[in-house]
Amino acid sequence: MSVKRVAEYEIADDSDILRFVCLGGGSEVGRSCHIIEYKGKRVMLDAGIHPAYTGAASLPFYDTYDDLGEIDLLLISHFHLDHAASLPYVMTKTEFKGKVFMTHPTKAIYRWLLSDFVRVSSVAENDPSLYNDEDLAKSFDQINTIDYHSTMEVNGIRFTAYHAGHVLGAAMYLIEIDGVKILFTGDYSREEDRHLNVAEVPPTRPDILITESTYGTGIHRNRLEKETRLTSLIHSTISKGGRCLLPVFALGRAQEILLILDEYWDQHSDLEGVNIYYASSLARKCMAVYQTYINMMNDNIRKKFRDSKTNPFQFKHIKNIKNLDRFEDIGPCVMVASPGMLQNGVSRELLERWAPDPKNALILTGYSVEGTMAKQILNEPTEIPSINGQEIKIPRRLSVEELSFAAHVDYQQNAEFIDLVNAPNIILVHGESNNMGRLKSALLSKYHDRKGTENEVKVYNPKNCVTVNLPFKGTKIAKTMGFLAETAPKDGQFISGVLVQKDFQTGLMQLSDLEEYSGLTTTILMERQTIIVEAGPELVRYHLEQMFGNISILEESDDSIKLRIMEAVEVSHIDNRATIEWSGSIMNDTIADATLAILLTVDSSPASVKLSSKSCSHSHGSHDDTNMSSEPALELSRAEKIQNISAVLRAQFGDTLEIHEDGSHATIKIEAMVADIDFNTLEVECKAPSLKQRVAHVLNRAISLASPLLPKLTSDSNPAIKAEIKSEAEPEIKEEVQPDTLKIET
Ligand SMILES: [Zn+2]
Ligand SMILES: [Zn+2]
Repeated sequence: MSVKRVAEYEIADDSDILRFVCLGGGSEVGRSCHIIEYKGKRVMLDAGIHPAYTGAASLPFYDTYDDLGEIDLLLISHFHLDHAASLPYVMTKTEFKGKVFMTHPTKAIYRWLLSDFVRVSSVAENDPSLYNDEDLAKSFDQINTIDYHSTMEVNGIRFTAYHAGHVLGAAMYLIEIDGVKILFTGDYSREEDRHLNVAEVPPTRPDILITESTYGTGIHRNRLEKETRLTSLIHSTISKGGRCLLPVFALGRAQEILLILDEYWDQHSDLEGVNIYYASSLARKCMAVYQTYINMMNDNIRKKFRDSKTNPFQFKHIKNIKNLDRFEDIGPCVMVASPGMLQNGVSRELLERWAPDPKNALILTGYSVEGTMAKQILNEPTEIPSINGQEIKIPRRLSVEELSFAAHVDYQQNAEFIDLVNAPNIILVHGESNNMGRLKSALLSKYHDRKGTENEVKVYNPKNCVTVNLPFKGTKIAKTMGFLAETAPKDGQFISGVLVQKDFQTGLMQLSDLEEYSGLTTTILMERQTIIVEAGPELVRYHLEQMFGNISILEESDDSIKLRIMEAVEVSHIDNRATIEWSGSIMNDTIADATLAILLTVDSSPASVKLSSKSCSHSHGSHDDTNMSSEPALELSRAEKIQNISAVLRAQFGDTLEIHEDGSHATIKIEAMVADIDFNTLEVECKAPSLKQRVAHVLNRAISLASPLLPKLTSDSNPAIKAEIKSEAEPEIKEEVQPDTLKIET
């Protein structure tokens, strides 16, 4: 009788209900915060404040949720205060101890916005502020960043960020927990504008779509019409001798409005001499951020940047002012000022000053939240209360117009996106209850004929603190592996082992079989990064070999390649997309960093030009002299050579490299491993073979690049040696390995 190596067992499992809770943003706009619970994992989406309230009243209902301390992961969709402003509170004043992720530009802008928020809220309100600068700084350092299109994994929860339009840095997240996929849109837009990419439809179909419903079933005017209306309204107000007030949120859509105005002023010389002011203390600081991230914006703005070689956000006709101290209010002008909903600050002060004059105009370009002055004034009251006291009434004669540039989808765009995403469950958030209700009815009648079929679409519009329960058929089968599979247990008998869930397969095995059957050691963080590399697979391979020496080729064809570097990092290159995958540890991360650095320069490297010109029938003579190694060798002093070599080593190993004072040798320390480089013999001493091999390769390359006269090193390139590295620094992020006892039901 043969031994059965693999057996399958059902796991008694009562955790296949997915729970969704809104702590904020449920049937309202403001304080967005949602929680997903599934299979013992918890993900929080956004942590905002409500702009119509102050202090503790503006927070999501954190105190109603008992398990804040159990949350694994918190994803922030974008930097707007209604999505991000209670993050420092969650991180420093509650039990929460999960990982926090946002995109790079979101993190950069978040920093400035929130310190401004701390300043404004502690001055303007009597409420004790929710957190101070110190809390902000402390929590800021613990925020992780994610690139668009990269996939990360925390405690078995995989998530990928996609463009959401809306504002710079805004992301949608596709989250996967044990095979169940959830797409969270955050605030999103599908209309091309002057600077942002529109929201993308992710390539996989989610089981649940959590989407904003801000505009409900409303339909936007088309963009051109809106822009024309905006500029002509401003132009006519100025011609009459009036002033225009455009309240905006300090950053984000303000930049789009400024791009429109700057362009219009360029085309209308009669407006010369009429000032456009942008009153924001953050304008100057964030200019740099907007410049840095031009590569994450759309083709329009990148082209503008390339063609003019200047920062398109460095406006020609717009004057930045910090506050009203130096503002001379002497005639027609345009004032773009925060806050966007006229709650306080510069925009409110000017509203009160300009409201009595009918020549003036107020233009609301953002979404106005219930309970704010912006919402109130849309009803065109004859008088408005002053910020200095409800009893002080100010006559309102200025004209009021709403022209939304808010970059939220309207019904048409939302419905089209919902169709494309094609999720069987839709949860509506971020909408006033009327708008949300109308959207729900519209969707239900749209999908009416699918009712009762397997393509049925369910739509939910939960209120705050109400739980939505969604049943999912999760993984029910565990396969025994190794020793446990060799003997068949009797009915009702208990067996125990380590339950390993990997890529949503569940296996049961003895601890001693763990490495052989699961490939797991202890702490593994799988990371993946994809970038565009236009060069062909041959060049990619050439450059990586130059750096790392022997690399293992896993697959190769004319137009694709898959290879493994230092037994640690896998690189695949197909259709101009290079994907790097590695399991996270300090050593692997540095190899992955080095790999990424090389891939990023492949397209522009002189060697690429040279190599590709070889295969081309026309000769590109001018390129030939760009290859460094064919240049005549320069006479360098020993000190200069060592300096050059050190620079190359430094570029690869960063702060882990230390050059000895007398210049005789250098050390590289990565965790417990130390490599010593003797500059006299050019030999590498290191007990860890993987590090030794890598240092030797980099040194070799450094010698040939920086100092061609020195003799080449031979490197120890034994690919079979694999270092066992245990990262103790980041134990929280790991593959699921949980001991468990199973009841067998055969
Ligand atoms: Zn927003
Ligand atoms: Zn929002």
